[in-house]
Amino acid sequence: MNHIKPISAEWDSDLLSQVQAQFERVARKISLDQNIFNRLRVPEKALIVSVPFRMDDGSVAVVPGYRVQHNDSLGPYKGGIRYHPSVNLGEVTALAMLMSWKTAVVGLPLGGAKGGIQIDPTLLTRQELQRMTRRYTSEIINFIGPEVDIPAPDMGTNEQVMAWMMDTYSHQKGYSIPEVVTGKPIAIGGSLGRKESPGRGVIYILMAAAEKLKMKLDQKTTVVIQGFGQVGAAAARKAEKIGCRVIAVSDVKSGIYNPKGLDVKKLFAWVEKKKFVQGFPGSERVTNEELLELPCTVLIPAATGGVITKKNAAKLKCKILAEGANGPTTNEADKIIHDRKDIFLIPDILANAGGVTVSYFEWVQDLQNFFWSEKEINKKLWEIMNRAFHEVWETSQKEKCNLRTASLIRAITKISQAMLVRGLFP
Ligand code: NAD
Repeated sequence: MNHIKPISAEWDSDLLSQVQAQFERVARKISLDQNIFNRLRVPEKALIVSVPFRMDDGSVAVVPGYRVQHNDSLGPYKGGIRYHPSVNLGEVTALAMLMSWKTAVVGLPLGGAKGGIQIDPTLLTRQELQRMTRRYTSEIINFIGPEVDIPAPDMGTNEQVMAWMMDTYSHQKGYSIPEVVTGKPIAIGGSLGRKESPGRGVIYILMAAAEKLKMKLDQKTTVVIQGFGQVGAAAARKAEKIGCRVIAVSDVKSGIYNPKGLDVKKLFAWVEKKKFVQGFPGSERVTNEELLELPCTVLIPAATGGVITKKNAAKLKCKILAEGANGPTTNEADKIIHDRKDIFLIPDILANAGGVTVSYFEWVQDLQNFFWSEKEINKKLWEIMNRAFHEVWETSQKEKCNLRTASLIRAITKISQAMLVRGLFP
């Protein structure tokens, strides 16, 4: 597990090419100021650390860790921490850029950042995971902070990882600082509703879209979800709760399908016991590739990036594509879907902004030492997601463009206005 990469390979990321190309396209469309363009195309700061930690067998592993801060014109940097083998400087930079757009499009007073470690966390024991997380936090300690940059969970990390990060940061500073991370357990200053918020937010956006499209969400509305983690599982639960029929879900191993509908509550209990969705009674097995092409009303990719490509974009059989994951659709696929005109695509920076929105609520509650009820949180989340959807919709009508372009127009314009009015230091 000692794998330091050569510098050139650090930037090698399909997601970065995709996110930069999207930015360049929209920057041209809105005739973005050239100086702002040059600054926004790259991150403001990036830190690479090598993280040594002891394995249970006594050996020492060294893995690369990252924290990239893209833009903080609207407020402190904010973004998740990803533990995954594909993590490198390029991927983390792309995800940090998406965070800047996301916080801006929903109107939060925050910037965009991302971090991660290049590792498969499922190969580590709990103790190894804890030692690695604590050492990583210690390595980036002067880069993060409640007024500077506030991490949160992403793929491969969870509430427990955030608790270890908060504890390590607090010990080194000498007192308890819960507001340094969000997505923590409730017991140490986490927010009610945070865990479910990324998935709940996807369904709130779907509800706002359905209202606009004059579409009913009921038992005839079939939902297919790729990924049964923090985003996918919560989206499945909320979709079922509002009366939709969840007919297929998957995880990294495989997918399960039942056209009559899966009992999501029972599926949660199954996954709790068996870890993976495979073998769930009453379902048939499908591969992750087949799952994406199932006939359905709503398709929610909520696992990893780049799964909808030029190979399968023409074969999708959904009416609405709500991007739960970050960057699930390649730019080539995006164009095919746009040209098809029969799929209503809700882009990642809008569809999955529920997580960062409730993270923002968590940070505000920690700073005030005053906590809100789950009802208040869900109400505020709905208001923000619904307003953001309507604003993006209006822009798409005015500019005659799709929702991805409209979301980017709104986000980039908002950030560039802040940068221009703040001016250039010194
Ligand atoms: P997670 O680790 O909790 O869950 C990921 C799920 O996807 C798991 O079920 C895993 O088995 C599955 N998976 C992993 N690789 C896969 C593959 N190659 N094919 C199919 N399934 C695969 O992660 P998460 O936090 O739910 O994040 C999922 C996506 O949503 C990521 O793109 C992340 O950036 C994005 N996102 C997360 C949050 C958040 O707050 N957690 C917020 C917004 C967006």
